[in-house]
Amino acid sequence: MATTAADPVTALRTILHVDMDAFYASVEQRDNPELRGKPLVVGGAGARGVVAAASYEARRFGIHSAMPVSRARRLCADLLIVPNRMGVYAEVSRQVFEVFHRYTPLVEALSLDEAFLDVTASKKLHGSGTDIATKIRRAIEETLNLTASVGVASNKFLAKVASDLDKPDGLTVVPHPPQPFLDPLPVRRIWGVGKKAAERLETIGVTTIGDLRRQPDGRLRSLLGRHADRLSELAQGLDERPVVPDREDKSVSHEQTYGTDLTEFEACDRQLLSLAAAVGARLRRKGICGQVVRVKIRLSDFTTLSRQLSLHTAVDDDQSISRAARGLFKRWWRRHPDCAIRLLGVGVSQLKESQRQDDLFGPSEAATIDKLKDRISERFQDAGLKPATLVKPPAKDQDE
Ligand SMILES: [Mg+2]
Repeated sequence: MATTAADPVTALRTILHVDMDAFYASVEQRDNPELRGKPLVVGGAGARGVVAAASYEARRFGIHSAMPVSRARRLCADLLIVPNRMGVYAEVSRQVFEVFHRYTPLVEALSLDEAFLDVTASKKLHGSGTDIATKIRRAIEETLNLTASVGVASNKFLAKVASDLDKPDGLTVVPHPPQPFLDPLPVRRIWGVGKKAAERLETIGVTTIGDLRRQPDGRLRSLLGRHADRLSELAQGLDERPVVPDREDKSVSHEQTYGTDLTEFEACDRQLLSLAAAVGARLRRKGICGQVVRVKIRLSDFTTLSRQLSLHTAVDDDQSISRAARGLFKRWWRRHPDCAIRLLGVGVSQLKESQRQDDLFGPSEAATIDKLKDRISERFQDAGLKPATLVKPPAKDQDE
């Protein structure tokens, strides 16, 4: 397809939508050669198990995600059912996003395996949108042995529609203006047009996006109500929504997955102290501080929750961060004392530039200790000082 032409009037953005192909299923086939070329689903094998992902071989039988595994089995007698390895998928996802970030900081994750990238400002350095899409696809294939499909367009809506058109292992570039691309597609390709809306549109003879675009506004409004205006905009290929980079960029956080689940309060408490110290050191290195402290907790069954606290003032010292984080965790633990914890994280958000008032009142004691610690750990790397509790478990009655 033609590449996006330069438009002298409106400054066109270049947006990529990257979507890994049958992500969990492809990771399983990559890691286990015996599974390649075979119909498989990733999901729970139990009576109420649901398909989390289906390989392309399984999709040929009409199997898709969110379908009960029992139903998938009836559709394909030879179906292989592979248990979910979420930790592995999360790690591969991290590697995939690391590839995205080589080309732009404007990455908005939609899920573990899908993201929007705004590469408008990256073109000088990395070539056209199509070039960047090709480089990303190649890097994913060569380093991770997986395939991704990419849509390249001037906005999110068009990029998302495009990435889905040539799956798996596809690259689709939407021309500008987009009408020749968009008009022949069925209306169901538009986000939010489900079966019901499609049926209603069919009653007035609308089956393609082109049909929809040519409808008078009033007619659509009486048929679809408040969604009509948005739909008619999309049918024209218009979508102004910006790519919003992931929340991580607006916070500084550290998290750790544990090989063996943590089941004791003291062990968790020590981990939080160490995570808080890592966050504090990074904040000070960046010269920023933050007012909201967050604790992230992931249980052994992958339930993930977070608790946060807004402080009176923005902080960057280990003591304030760890006091808040440990307090949040302690309150949660009191109600859930029998949990097995797989991951803990500490984050600080609502960031702003640090403005130390050392000259007015003299540095606070905590700030002096942290500064000293930072200087020592810079010199001795990991052999730096640690809070005493990290070295020796605290006695139970010492806890706050
Ligand atoms: Mg996908």
